[in-house]
Amino acid sequence: MTKATNCTQDTGQTESSLEWRARLLEHLAALTEQFLRLGWLSPTLENILACLGRALAADRAYLAQRHQADGPVISQRYEWTATGIPSLTQHPLRQKQPEQAKGLRRWVKHLQANQPLYLQTAHLPPEERQAWAADQHQTLLLIPLFAGGQWWGFLGFDNPSPLDTATIEFLLLAASLIGSILHNAQRHREARARTQQLAVLHRISHIIGSTLNMDEIAQRALENVCNLFHAPIGAVHTADLQDNLADQQASLGLSADQAARLACLPLPNTPLGQVVLTARPLFIKEAPQDADHIMLVPAASQAIVPLAVGEHVLGTLFIAFHQPRSFTVDEQTLLLAIGRQVGIAMANARLFDQIRTAEHMARRRAEQLTALHEIARIVNAGSDLHHTLTLLLEQLTRLVSYDSAVVFLRRGPTLSVAASRGFPDPLALQQLCVPIAEDPLFQQIVATQQPIVLHDAQQEPRFRKLTDTDHVRGWIGIPLLVDDELVGILAVESRQPGAFDQESAQVIQALADQVTVVIHKIRLLEELQQANQELRRLDELKDQFIQNVAHELRTPLTLVRGYVELLAQGKLDQDTQNHAIHTAFNHTQTLVQLVEGITTLQDLNLNERVEEAIDPLELAQTAVQSVRQKALRAGISIRAQLPQKLPTIRGDFVWLAQALYQLLDNAIKFSPGGSQVLLKLSAVSDTLRIQVEDEGIGIPQQEQQRIFDLFYQVDGTTTRRFGGTGLGLAIVQRVVQQHGGQVWVESPIHQSNGPSNPGSRFIIRLPLK
Ligand code: ADP
Repeated sequence: MTKATNCTQDTGQTESSLEWRARLLEHLAALTEQFLRLGWLSPTLENILACLGRALAADRAYLAQRHQADGPVISQRYEWTATGIPSLTQHPLRQKQPEQAKGLRRWVKHLQANQPLYLQTAHLPPEERQAWAADQHQTLLLIPLFAGGQWWGFLGFDNPSPLDTATIEFLLLAASLIGSILHNAQRHREARARTQQLAVLHRISHIIGSTLNMDEIAQRALENVCNLFHAPIGAVHTADLQDNLADQQASLGLSADQAARLACLPLPNTPLGQVVLTARPLFIKEAPQDADHIMLVPAASQAIVPLAVGEHVLGTLFIAFHQPRSFTVDEQTLLLAIGRQVGIAMANARLFDQIRTAEHMARRRAEQLTALHEIARIVNAGSDLHHTLTLLLEQLTRLVSYDSAVVFLRRGPTLSVAASRGFPDPLALQQLCVPIAEDPLFQQIVATQQPIVLHDAQQEPRFRKLTDTDHVRGWIGIPLLVDDELVGILAVESRQPGAFDQESAQVIQALADQVTVVIHKIRLLEELQQANQELRRLDELKDQFIQNVAHELRTPLTLVRGYVELLAQGKLDQDTQNHAIHTAFNHTQTLVQLVEGITTLQDLNLNERVEEAIDPLELAQTAVQSVRQKALRAGISIRAQLPQKLPTIRGDFVWLAQALYQLLDNAIKFSPGGSQVLLKLSAVSDTLRIQVEDEGIGIPQQEQQRIFDLFYQVDGTTTRRFGGTGLGLAIVQRVVQQHGGQVWVESPIHQSNGPSNPGSRFIIRLPLK
């Protein structure tokens, strides 16, 4: 190599070897100083290249750096060119040449061994020439550059003037000095970048740490990350590993369509799923043409990082860019660290939510327990149906959120309102009576005895408005069943569509059960009260009966005893003795009848009736015969109006004759002398009709039902005009009922007889078959 002695200055003059070296040292000192002052190194580096380029009379002087980009590459960083020589910095061959490229491999080996290279392009193998020579130059000088003991790059010179060894040595020295300054500058930059990252991390963790709301954390983290990376698009998703879904928690820069598409994504076979399942980030620098399967939105590049606490991935943070962009190691580290921070904040928020939900549930449970306790108390204490049901509907508000409710009670084919809550005019509602057949929903509940839940009543054509029920959306109707019998319906309404889910339906069903208990209980109570009243009435009747029987017995007994005493004295003449015997006998007969009446009743209760064919005409004649004497004595004529022939009936002849006897006996007893009693038999369609009419005292309308009761007498006083025990009609009714027939009375029947003798007509109807 020929010694290079000159260096061209800006003025065009040539510097001596010593001069350029001195100048170079000056530049190196300036570079050191700039580094120490943390200044920008490139102007001085360019000065150094200019100085060296001129000193070596080269066309270009440049600095190439080895760095990482998908494997080690070499790129030209700084360049000086002599006047008239074009720059090659942007030339593809000088940018990001893979270190292992065929043409560079040998050169790299030399440079890594700290050996300078002086090459004559003409003598290079063609591949090397192609790899490096971008311009026409004959010679190349490459001085290796080391930083921190590592090969860092090289100083390159195109077409330098020949150099001696000392100059090369000097250049190596200068290169090592530049190298260590660049190395330190690099480390300094890294340290500064790390500090900046920490600051960013700190800021983000501060921002997301100031809230425990999941959505806010996601939104704030996303905004900060997008700001930091100048990303126009981003989203945060939480992973639901049970359903294999990712739910969007926050988004930025998405169109409405994209936001809807990303709202809920499946995890399997999607980029989000890959990140969630592997807990590793995904950085896509430049999306390939068919990138739909990896890109969440149309974008050039994207990054998806896991939001994780340890190995547990809670979700993902995704940012996307319109332009292709690579993510430096530092950026990747920072994004991962942010992901961890956000993951921790989200885990905390989730925990907080769970605690809050647990607290809320505990409070709700306590409230429900209190309500249930109160319901039990109301059910136990209630004796007024309307009041009790109103209280129960009020308690329901503590268990389920609803707007209005009605308890309907079934009365035959209709439903009437027993209690309501939440209606503007409850009194008007109280008057409401809904025919079941006119309301398809009620009809279905009655038919199936199953509840119906409507998501939205306004969308349901079968829903009938009660009063002002336009607001009703959510609706539930529950049958109220007592021993499989539908006694009513509980309808609960809400302004919210779909207000009644399975849980609230169960709660309402539980309340419906309580409502049923109340209805049943209060009905039983009412029945009990009625039964008590009836018992009291029967008791009174019994007392009256005992008094009557005692009276009936006392009168004939006293007479019988009186006469028997007289007879015993033996002082009576024959006529008086005969009269006494006759009277005593008659009164004994009355006593016998009374006892027989009671016995007959007893028999009717205990014995089975005989089943035989009976000719109604024979029955009528027997009955008339049995009262003929009594009628004669009372001066009453008995007339029987009978057809020629009547179909036979089946039953107990003796009992039926007894019933007819009772009616005829009463007719005679309660009629004035000279009047007439008529017995009339006829066949009307498939029934036998028996009528006993009199012209007696008649029976007031309000008494006509009760006279058939045991011991009942219209005039129950001891001073009454007519004898009797109140047993006759009870016997008649029992006999007729046991033969599948009916008996009733009509009075007055003879308006013309005046108010004292309006007459009565007793009618018996018996089935002919
Ligand atoms: P009693 O032994 O008092 O006649 P019944 O059971 O036969 O008892 O009749 C009950 C009551 O019905 C009678 O006490 C009487 O008040 C009324 N009653 C029954 N039949 C007649 C009738 N034909 N005319 C008017 N009142 C009657």
